[in-house]
Amino acid sequence: MSQIHAPTAAIVGAGLSGLICARVLQDAGFGVKLFDKSRGPGGRLATRRTEQGTFDHGAQYFTARDPRFQAIVAQWKDKGIVAPWTPALIAIDLVDGAPVRAPVGDGTVRHVGVPSMNRIASALADGLEIHADCTVTRAHRLHASDGRPAWSLGATNGRGELVPVDGTFDWLVAAIPSPQAVALLADLPSMQAQARALPMVPCWAVLAAFGTPLASGFDAAFVNGSSLTWIARNGTKPGRDAGAECWVLHAARDWSERMLEEPAEAVCARMLAEFRRITSCIDEPVAARAHRWRYSGPGAKSDLACLFDRDGQAGACGDWLAGSRVEGAFLSGLAVAERILGAR
Ligand SMILES: Cc1cc2nc3c(=O)[nH]c(=O)nc-3n(C[C@H](O)[C@H](O)[C@H](O)COP(=O)(O)OP(=O)(O)OC[C@H]3O[C@@H](n4cnc5c(N)ncnc54)[C@H](O)[C@@H]3O)c2cc1C
Repeated sequence: MSQIHAPTAAIVGAGLSGLICARVLQDAGFGVKLFDKSRGPGGRLATRRTEQGTFDHGAQYFTARDPRFQAIVAQWKDKGIVAPWTPALIAIDLVDGAPVRAPVGDGTVRHVGVPSMNRIASALADGLEIHADCTVTRAHRLHASDGRPAWSLGATNGRGELVPVDGTFDWLVAAIPSPQAVALLADLPSMQAQARALPMVPCWAVLAAFGTPLASGFDAAFVNGSSLTWIARNGTKPGRDAGAECWVLHAARDWSERMLEEPAEAVCARMLAEFRRITSCIDEPVAARAHRWRYSGPGAKSDLACLFDRDGQAGACGDWLAGSRVEGAFLSGLAVAERILGAR
């Protein structure tokens, strides 16, 4: 009598798209393992904890327009995992080099994780098997011991040492930025080429803590015509320590591309100088550092939702496939899981 075999899936990347895909497959009876090169799940839903306070240095907030995403956001709200954020929000336009301020009253509901953006990921990760500090360097298509086609993974840790990945998997999902998916998908040249055609762009972020509240006159600002695009006082988000004067600055795409390989200290100094120039807040931070997001967001538009190869039993998901941003990552992870379930 042949044994009934619960399908298995290896999901590389425990950002939002990988976590959603994992949850849907596990709920449908799959044996799921997630692998992430970082110390914990979340990816760009990132929060840095420092002596001076916490900083959401990746995604700042998210909106929910698709009914499927709205439904899960409503559940997160009920559980206290997310809450609306209503900052004093302005636009700063550089006109002939001079900053001109205007209020932003666009009626958009902006949500954030509580007490941090990363909380969304930790809530989703509950009950999932996640292998952290595990960079998947190669995915091999082979035949398992029972003769069925399967995936086997090769991985290293942060020190470059080999990490054994036990067993084989029926399905492979690359829930990682497109350039990293390209590196992983050598055994699926067609999917690899699709990923290569969808590049991603960088973003430098600065995390700056001040000893006293800045007289900024705003909590968050979209900036146009500057090397900065976004400024936010993190403590104004719900559930944060409002007393910690922690600010996040994001640089423009073109500027980040030009400065990509510059030392973090030099980037930090230049972004802080621009912050002072356009806000007139001249206080020196008590601590500041720059963080480089090499793959911050999509550089090209795609509405494919996900990549999927039924014969190769593999898929790819992420914000680069579904309209970018947090909502896009969610919809992409959901899409690849639904394609896998539909293929059984
Ligand atoms: C600076 C910045 C600002 C942003 N602002 C907003 C915003 O305001 N609103 C909004 O909606 N969105 C924003 N975003 C985008 C949002 O964060 C992303 O769209 C979303 O989090 C992407 O999720 P993901 O699952 O597709 O990818 P990721 O979150 O990047 O997850 C991929 C995971 O894969 C892991 N990984 C990569 N390669 C490997 C490998 N080989 N082996 C193992 N693990 C691997 C990574 O460690 C990571 O955890 C911002 C992003 C950045 C960087």
